[in-house]
Amino acid sequence: MERTLSIIKPDGVQRNLVGTIVGRFESEGFRIAGMKRLWLSKKEAEAFYAMHKDRPFFDSLTSYMSSGPVVVMVLEGPNAIQRNRDIMGDTNPAQAAEGTIRKEYGLDVEKNTVHGSDKPETAAKEIAFFFSELELM
Ligand code: ATP
Ligand code: MG
Repeated sequence: MERTLSIIKPDGVQRNLVGTIVGRFESEGFRIAGMKRLWLSKKEAEAFYAMHKDRPFFDSLTSYMSSGPVVVMVLEGPNAIQRNRDIMGDTNPAQAAEGTIRKEYGLDVEKNTVHGSDKPETAAKEIAFFFSELELM
């Protein structure tokens, strides 16, 4: 079984979309192996998104990601990484396919409601960033 890290970003938590989005993941057949709600500091957001540190949107993105609580989850299932990205849709909600989470709920290319790991190495790192082995079951 593959695992991926999912985050409901501050715009999703603020608009009371946690239950809706978690329900969507469950109805898609994912098992939730771990879940918590937390508020990232700016430094923690910068560490999480370190791979984007040279991108022009880095400061804005990390300010946004530390602007309010998020919900982080480990989703488990066959092909979880790619399937989660298919369900999320394109980074830019305006370009996301019908029926995807970002199409339905995303506000703009930054406030796009959810994050999902993009490949196995990233998923392992991102899961370890938020969860210890004991917290995953
Ligand atoms: P994520 O990593 O959050 O799952 P992604 O893999 O689809 O999204 P990335 O290219 O990794 O997209 O960008 C990470 C995040 O940075 C995006 O989800 C979005 O919040 C923000 N972002 C990406 N591109 C832009 C942009 N052009 N302007 C502002 N913010 C952006
Ligand atoms: Mg990404």
